[in-house]
Amino acid sequence: MENNKETPSVYSNFDRLPINGQWRHGKGAKVLRNLNPYDGGTLVEIPHANRDDMDEAYRGAAQSQQGWSALMPGERAAVMRRAAQIMEERREEIVSWIIRESGGTRIKANLEWHAVHGVLLEAATLPYLVEGRILPADIPSKESRMYRKPVGVVGVISPWNWPFQLTARSAAPALAVGNAVVVKPASDTPVTGGLLFAKILEEAELPPGVLSVIVGAGSEIGDAFVTHPIPRVISFTGSTPVGRNIAKLAAESPMLKRLELELGGNSPFVVLDDADLERAVEAAVFGKFLHQGQTCMSINRIIVDKQLHDDFVQRFAERVRQLKAGDPDAPDTLIGPIINESQLKGLQQRIRHAVSAGAKQVIGGEAIGSVLPPHVFDHVTNQMVLAQTESFGPIVPILRAGNEAEALTIANDTDLGLAAAVFTQDVERGLRFAQRLEAGMVHINDQPVNDLPYNPFGGEKNSGIGRFNGVWGVAAFTTDQWVSIQHMPRHYPFDARKIP
Ligand code: NAD
Repeated sequence: MENNKETPSVYSNFDRLPINGQWRHGKGAKVLRNLNPYDGGTLVEIPHANRDDMDEAYRGAAQSQQGWSALMPGERAAVMRRAAQIMEERREEIVSWIIRESGGTRIKANLEWHAVHGVLLEAATLPYLVEGRILPADIPSKESRMYRKPVGVVGVISPWNWPFQLTARSAAPALAVGNAVVVKPASDTPVTGGLLFAKILEEAELPPGVLSVIVGAGSEIGDAFVTHPIPRVISFTGSTPVGRNIAKLAAESPMLKRLELELGGNSPFVVLDDADLERAVEAAVFGKFLHQGQTCMSINRIIVDKQLHDDFVQRFAERVRQLKAGDPDAPDTLIGPIINESQLKGLQQRIRHAVSAGAKQVIGGEAIGSVLPPHVFDHVTNQMVLAQTESFGPIVPILRAGNEAEALTIANDTDLGLAAAVFTQDVERGLRFAQRLEAGMVHINDQPVNDLPYNPFGGEKNSGIGRFNGVWGVAAFTTDQWVSIQHMPRHYPFDARKIP
């Protein structure tokens, strides 16, 4: 078919929120200044939503969900496909927002565009995966069935690092299987974490009210967003401490609710004694410094067998020195800005602490504006703060392991268990190692930053509860109902004639 479409005019009015089918100003007292983390410029000023806005969003979602879930699977699939098509037509507009609002480099912004495009195409297949079952029953003449239904309304809370993807990764599958969704994006990324997604879905003809976005102060709507009686599932992606608090709120709320928690990481990147060093170095540079290390799966510790350690440190440092830091919009920039001042200060504090704890700084440097250059530390032990907690920035410690067994012990010596990676030229050895790693996702001869639409994504230990993508996403946002039919009269043991 010939494509006569002109380039669509850019989306506007991001000072308004889509609440129950209408784009309007939030009624909160404060205004959010949405800043470009690289140059500090104001992108848009958004009046906050208050609790009444949130209540309206949830009520509207509950109402519109009924009509949405009653549509044919093919009709819901078509909305997702159209959304993917709109993303193609608006690619540069979307990429530009990711760069300006999240401080992502062009490479990151394009990877994020691809991830969301993939999520939408995957979501278009999910309506057809919502299947029931006929079950065995040990009662004469009973027919047992399982019906799988959408949960109703899903509340989505997303972080600022990959905001477009992490909102879409929850919201798209939840919508596709027949739920309505209310999104609360992070304050640093209200547009890419929610408003942009809502514009795309609206243009793709998602019925009004099925998707609302609430931008507001955590202190006013944060807790109430979780404890509100309408959402049946809260899908939270963010830090472990906030995730714990959300679990507590969900347990104490008047109506219990299910949780999908995608939390912090402390990914080990293990280089065994037979690894291909060149490949390992290339993978480590990408897996650590993509988006300045502000990714849950980012390499947080590099653990190298003593036989390769010195060589690895030297070659890794050489490669890291070549990474260009600066304006994220410049095509050759690989290290862009840190999201906000408080994160930057936290990272600088972390660097000072590492030095005073005895780690040897191999690469460092002062921040220029909000751009912190890569920091590499050697002579780090797994007990140091640098190894035990998540950096979430362009800082990486290298640890030395005496042998494979010690590498495994070090890798597992953390309360987090999201992603991990191991390098070895013996794939069977890598597989045995992978299966003993306490992580939800392990990659052999690759780095840990991977998220593919049909592969189970999620963490162990304090990295979360639940899995995303494909059939796991269907399970996350549906509930199973057992319905039985007693075809012929049943003989109950209360039958008086049979009681001795
Ligand atoms: P964060 O936990 O500070 O915030 C996440 C979201 O929760 C934000 O939208 C924030 O506004 C909101 N929030 C904060 N308090 C709340 C409350 N009481 N009630 C409701 N919402 C509340 O995390 P962050 O700093 O935005 O993101 C970084 C963290 O997220 C890192 O730890 C990272 O590892 C983790 N993360 C995990 C994944 C994953 O898939 N496992 C992906 C990305 C980021």
